[in-house]
Amino acid sequence: MFKKIFKSIKINNLEIKNRLVSTGLATNYCNKDGTVTQRYIEYNEAKAKGGWGLIITENYAIDEVQKGSPFLPGLWNDEQIEGHSKLTEKVHNCGGKIVAQISHPGRQAKSFLTGAQSVAPSPIKDPTIDEMPHELTVEEIKVIVKKFSDAALRVKKAGFDGVEIQGGHGYLINQFLSPFSNKRSDEYGGTILNRCRFILEIIDSVREKVGEDFLVSIRISADEFVDGGLTIEDSKVIARILENAGIDVINVSFAVYKTLHYNVPPAAVPHAFAVDLAAEIKKVVSIPVITVGRINDPFIAETVLLSDKADLVAMGRAGLADPELPNKAEEGRVEDIIRCIGCLQGCVGRPLKGQPASCLVNPLSGKEKEFDIKKTNNKKKVFVAGGGVAGMEAAIILAKRGHEVHLFEKEPQLGGQWLLAAVPPHKEELNTLTVWQRTQLNKLGVNIYLNTELTKEIIDKEKPDAVIIATGATPFVPNIPGKNSDNVILANEVLAGSDKIGKNVVVIGGGQVGAETAAHLANHGHKVNIVEMQDSIVKMGIPLVNYFLMKDLKENNVNIMTNTIVKEILEDSVLLERNNEVMKLDNIDTVVMAIGSKSENKLAHDLKGKGIEIITIGDAVKVRDALSAVEEGYRAGLQM
Ligand code: SF4
Repeated sequence: MFKKIFKSIKINNLEIKNRLVSTGLATNYCNKDGTVTQRYIEYNEAKAKGGWGLIITENYAIDEVQKGSPFLPGLWNDEQIEGHSKLTEKVHNCGGKIVAQISHPGRQAKSFLTGAQSVAPSPIKDPTIDEMPHELTVEEIKVIVKKFSDAALRVKKAGFDGVEIQGGHGYLINQFLSPFSNKRSDEYGGTILNRCRFILEIIDSVREKVGEDFLVSIRISADEFVDGGLTIEDSKVIARILENAGIDVINVSFAVYKTLHYNVPPAAVPHAFAVDLAAEIKKVVSIPVITVGRINDPFIAETVLLSDKADLVAMGRAGLADPELPNKAEEGRVEDIIRCIGCLQGCVGRPLKGQPASCLVNPLSGKEKEFDIKKTNNKKKVFVAGGGVAGMEAAIILAKRGHEVHLFEKEPQLGGQWLLAAVPPHKEELNTLTVWQRTQLNKLGVNIYLNTELTKEIIDKEKPDAVIIATGATPFVPNIPGKNSDNVILANEVLAGSDKIGKNVVVIGGGQVGAETAAHLANHGHKVNIVEMQDSIVKMGIPLVNYFLMKDLKENNVNIMTNTIVKEILEDSVLLERNNEVMKLDNIDTVVMAIGSKSENKLAHDLKGKGIEIITIGDAVKVRDALSAVEEGYRAGLQM
């Protein structure tokens, strides 16, 4: 099935068993003092067990103060080495190879997190951070060069198989390389060679300390996607300079914080979208080149290698979604691979709130110990009400633990609201989770009853030991005059494929569902208005995902009316009020209600006092994001 991805490769002295590289993302799993936690070790160990040829860690801080986020691993002092040695030992015991990435954030750091002013080649604020960095003096540059090489030596002493210097993603080295952020006129600025001086000094110093036979990689942003920033042609020159300086492998990434929506691309960004950047670099160097960027499937990785556009393929979030991806691919169990759906809810959303990273499609990731699945010694007959993503997840875990599981779904197919959520543009990949869950349910022999709503009567008759209620939510319709008119339809009905939608549409409600339904309709030729009572639409959700949604709405000329309330729905128009002024939208064929949903938990009330063990999960408890719902399903499966 795969000819290329399982071919070994030797880089410097390191034998790497396959071409699949698991790259890190900021997980918040380490301690504030940069030391490892058991969680961080187990998370990386899971990847080593899962068969990745090479693991490249998230960025290790080289300085106690200058860190991009508080819970990064660190190797800025010798005391930190011991803990990280435990990590490398575990990875090696599982046959894995692991490289530590070392980094300095430069101006992409916030002082309220670090307690210090950020530093940069030039006194220019990062466009995403309203703080002026301190312009580094030449003496200060030399100190940072030493910090990099001291950290690299600690990487070697901790037993890592190599070190990667983070020279991309808008961090300090990237800031020196880029004319976007480096406006110096001394020996560190101006010409491309001068802009490379900082990294060249780091490479020299690192080599001197780790020796010639230790793998040294560099990550670069080959295109920053910003006006005045590095382009691929600049980066080709830089790549040649880096090769001449003795770098062993180039990890070709892209973007900076200003273009973070590409740096951590959501599902709206095409698969392997940056592979041509790697291909261009590969043309001008003879050392191996790694590509990355929305590659979430071994078939895509194989095709990239077959196209000869890179020598290795890195996957960040795909490794969080399924640390066992390589093993499953090699064993031909591709249907068992859990694919990253590009939602960013767990891997970006949680860390943005200061919480540890998690994954919507794989609650086990990062909780390897807490969520470990153990066989039950108290087998129960468990009924699960509702075959949405939360109910299916619960049923899978229950079945894996050895319970007798019966899953009831009132609709003709499994998936619930998730099936509708997969309809708008760029959401199609949500279906990969539904397909995976259905496959697992079938493999595990779960009894599935479609077109069957689990009722009190069924429970009275069949007498299960326990019931998990995952009945989800139903749309909420506010009491707007005219809400029962023939021209009114629910967003769910639109997404389910209703043929009752006219050309001119008003969507009432600019939350995620309203905006996505509007985008879906606009993409299919409708003229769409969104009416939202708050001051902006899609207030909730992940900004990087919303960036593309807003772009889509704009490109499709969707008329967005904020701070506006609906007074009345008329036969062919909608009466609105904004700033005490009444307005009318005329020639409206269809009004779509997308105000929100309310929990559907009637069964939980019906079963009160019956003495049956009950766990209610997901939207049936409270309407929230799918990340919480799936996680609760998993947890409920463990609790029984
Ligand atoms: Fe992918 Fe979503 Fe999991 Fe992040 S949370 S790794 S985007 S599936």
